[in-house]
Amino acid sequence: MPAPNIDTIVSLAKRRGFVFPSSEVYGGLGSAWDYGPLGVELCNNVKQSWWQWLVYGRDDIEGIDSSIILNRLVWKYSGHEATFHDPLVDCRECKSRMRADKLEGYFPEGAAGNREGFDANERLRAGLVKCAQCGSTNLTDERHFNMMFRTMLGAAAVEDDPMALAYLRPETAQGIFINFLNVQTTMRRKVPFGIAQVGKSFRNEITPGNFILRTREFEQMEMEYFVKPDAEHLKLVDEWVELYIEWFKGLGLDPGNLKLHEVPKTELAHYSKRTVDIMYRYFPERPEEERQWEELMGIAYRTDFDLRSHSSKATDAEGNRINSDSTEDLSYFDESTKQRFYPHVIEPAAGVNRTVLAVLMDAYSEKTNDKGEMRVILRLSPQLAPIKAAILPLAKNKPEIVGMAKAIKRSLQPVLRAVYDDTGGIGKLYARQDEIGTPFCVTVDHQSLEDEAVTVRDRDTWEQERIKVSDLAEHLQKRLKPFPVTIPESL
Ligand code: ATP
Repeated sequence: MPAPNIDTIVSLAKRRGFVFPSSEVYGGLGSAWDYGPLGVELCNNVKQSWWQWLVYGRDDIEGIDSSIILNRLVWKYSGHEATFHDPLVDCRECKSRMRADKLEGYFPEGAAGNREGFDANERLRAGLVKCAQCGSTNLTDERHFNMMFRTMLGAAAVEDDPMALAYLRPETAQGIFINFLNVQTTMRRKVPFGIAQVGKSFRNEITPGNFILRTREFEQMEMEYFVKPDAEHLKLVDEWVELYIEWFKGLGLDPGNLKLHEVPKTELAHYSKRTVDIMYRYFPERPEEERQWEELMGIAYRTDFDLRSHSSKATDAEGNRINSDSTEDLSYFDESTKQRFYPHVIEPAAGVNRTVLAVLMDAYSEKTNDKGEMRVILRLSPQLAPIKAAILPLAKNKPEIVGMAKAIKRSLQPVLRAVYDDTGGIGKLYARQDEIGTPFCVTVDHQSLEDEAVTVRDRDTWEQERIKVSDLAEHLQKRLKPFPVTIPESL
């Protein structure tokens, strides 16, 4: 049973130290969140699992970490300055400002998500579109709002100085494209190969919300996979979709809560020839099935758009250079065919925060104990659990037991994340660890002093096993082993 709604996770996350509303001492900052001691571990585990799967597990992917603030020209030639915008409207009644295409009545019936064949402003003026806050149809025309965050570089910069204007990156992908040749030549790579990057991105979303699902500052795990111009691009999109579904299943997500969405042609980003989104059921409480889903990640065929756009020699159909500012040509020379070309790109782009939210929702479960009390158990895959083992003394007033428990915690720490806790009765301590997803509780009792053994309690079954202290690390490590992810043999 997954969480019944996002609110259940918001409350658990705050109560147990996963995620806190940001800037709370000043009344908060709309839709900004801080990750607490357990949240940061969970995020790190998701990122690590992704990195290990792609960069270490395969032989054809390298990693990089590029700057968040890049030369402004990167965003001019990537097309983001001209096209990275959402439609915005204001409500004349309640003064709310909203993203227009998310409002009831914006799309004609049967055209959900398809912008062709109608004039949005005509529909707005005709009173067909409703304010999400007050229900009024007295809305302004829509206008385009660029979502890139602007900043100024340098001490002397005055506001609006175009020479100093820079942006916080809205995607990590461009840092990969502009480093394509650096990586390819230094690592002596041949196409096909990929470059992976994980890091923060920023979008000035008009309507952020739903906890960590849509925020203005978020983290992405993006990979650009460079292939030949005559590769089977559309098929490769399907292959990457399948691989990611396997990865998400490995993280513990129920495939019944995942589905695919083929993005309609009219909704494709300016660089994409095909995009398939993997959707997660973030809103199981909504009665209409089609409103239960939101994008978890997207897999796009970006063609050679970006490499060509950033290249000094690339030309358009009329033979004119498309970039007069670039000093480098990002084309690739294929030794085997003696041909030079701009590689095409398949891009799986996933969000760390949306993955974390999906993982938390799917792991949430409730169980009644033998006293009839309801307990929350977070059935996180052990690999993702923030804490792997909690070492609990059965009697905290017995120095020998406390000493033994602390020594066990210290001995485990180099091989796995362990904590010591004596701040409550054993029932309460177990319940607390269940609720944060700790797979194992290790209890030190009076008998432990004599037989040098401890009790290992399993989070999901609540079954207990007696294990020798000398075998404990190996026993736990065996049960924590990483999930298997299928990697095609050809790679
Ligand atoms: P959406 O349509 O939901 O705004 P998108 O299609 O613009 O998302 P992409 O540009 O494909 O998103 O970005 C790749 C991934 O980055 C998304 O699938 C999502 O996981 C994550 N992401 C994008 N925008 C946000 C955001 N504002 N907050 C949190 N994660 C985000």
